[in-house]
Amino acid sequence: MNETRPASMASFWMPFTNNRDFKMHPRLLVSAEGMYYKDVDGNSILDGTAGLWCVPCGHAQPKIVAAVREMIGQLDFAPTFQMGHPAAFDLAEQLMEYTNHRFGHVFYTNSGSEAVDTALKMALAYHRARGEGTRTRLIGRERGYHGVGFGGISVGGIAGNRKPYGAMLPYVDHLPHTHDLEKNAFTRGEPEYGAHLADELERIVTLHDASTIAAVIVEPVAGSTGVLIPPKGYLKRLRELCTKHGILLIFDEVITGFGRMTTPFAADYFDVEPDLMTTAKGLTNGVVPMGAVFTKPFLYEAFMQAPAGIELFHGYTYSGHPLACAASLATLEVFREQKIVEHAASLQSYWEDAVHSLRGLPHVIDIRSIGLIAGIELAPIAGKPGARAFDAFKKAFADGVLIRTTGDIIALSPPLVLEKKHIDELFGKLAKVLKDLA
Ligand code: PMP
Repeated sequence: MNETRPASMASFWMPFTNNRDFKMHPRLLVSAEGMYYKDVDGNSILDGTAGLWCVPCGHAQPKIVAAVREMIGQLDFAPTFQMGHPAAFDLAEQLMEYTNHRFGHVFYTNSGSEAVDTALKMALAYHRARGEGTRTRLIGRERGYHGVGFGGISVGGIAGNRKPYGAMLPYVDHLPHTHDLEKNAFTRGEPEYGAHLADELERIVTLHDASTIAAVIVEPVAGSTGVLIPPKGYLKRLRELCTKHGILLIFDEVITGFGRMTTPFAADYFDVEPDLMTTAKGLTNGVVPMGAVFTKPFLYEAFMQAPAGIELFHGYTYSGHPLACAASLATLEVFREQKIVEHAASLQSYWEDAVHSLRGLPHVIDIRSIGLIAGIELAPIAGKPGARAFDAFKKAFADGVLIRTTGDIIALSPPLVLEKKHIDELFGKLAKVLKDLA
């Protein structure tokens, strides 16, 4: 296996990584199949995080691999500006069906960050197209993560992603996050306390006037900042207030989409209708980079009222890349044939019981769970935020299980094709890691 080690690690500037530490103690993955990665030393590593939340159907799904292989031999690249290719149109129709025709149209991007920036631009341009160009204010949320474009970090609420870069987009305000460790610790599913926090939107409307506000963007369940689950009734209240004030509601479903919640989308789970929805990750099972913005018919129609010509001056060279479309079409087929969402739903209570069995282990101060997602919050080491959870991450990797940490929270989001034996292995190993941390 040694020949697969890179000759040097000097030149790759790794994203969201402590480069200096990593390059001294590298973790190198060389292959993946089903629920497992293999590392460079030949160790199997159970994937407790579906890569980065992006492999719902498991690794190396034969249908998806074959579809990408076939497309690359047939059409390696085709623009979608003023021309197109059949797979891009076929995929759009199938995606509409997959959302039960809740949306009318889909715009392709290459990542979640691009999907977020696209959705924000669409919201601004939509109001302008209707003669309400005063609606320029965007509302995000504290502890929200919407990728790393300037739009995404501006509406996002993670200080570390914002502070190094100075000025953000103007006219952005933030709702408070809904996480309450005192009132809601160890909740299964949606916590009881906190729906009233949606009313903070009224405060912002009073302050700035509804006629200045274009859109509110939230993750239905915030993932990257530690699995923050909305209180019961919170999202419905947010929807009501947006409707009341003519504000567009954007759900960022980059992690909650494609079965993660045991429903196709979080919008189904919470029974709340967003006007726009951003997705990525599971859209192609992580095989080829792709993101997408889904829009209600009224949005597209507003743009079609413009005088003849290009309706939306926006797009990416790789919007609707043939390989991404092939991967996504095959992913949807796997979802249908292997009943991925139904399978996830059948395992939800077993998953939840296993997650909450960690209660009482050293340092565990909260456990939260919804769909096939779990957050396990550890007490921080004084003066070293995140160090304890990162230690758990490194120990877990050495013990053959991939977990993800954000601050002192362990976030779990396995491929949805897992079986009970994988849940047993994951939590068996994690319990040992947590005990050893003490
Ligand atoms: N939005 C959310 C909710 C996400 O979780 C992420 C990625 N974790 C993004 C946007 C950004 O996606 P990408 O990394 O593909 O740009």
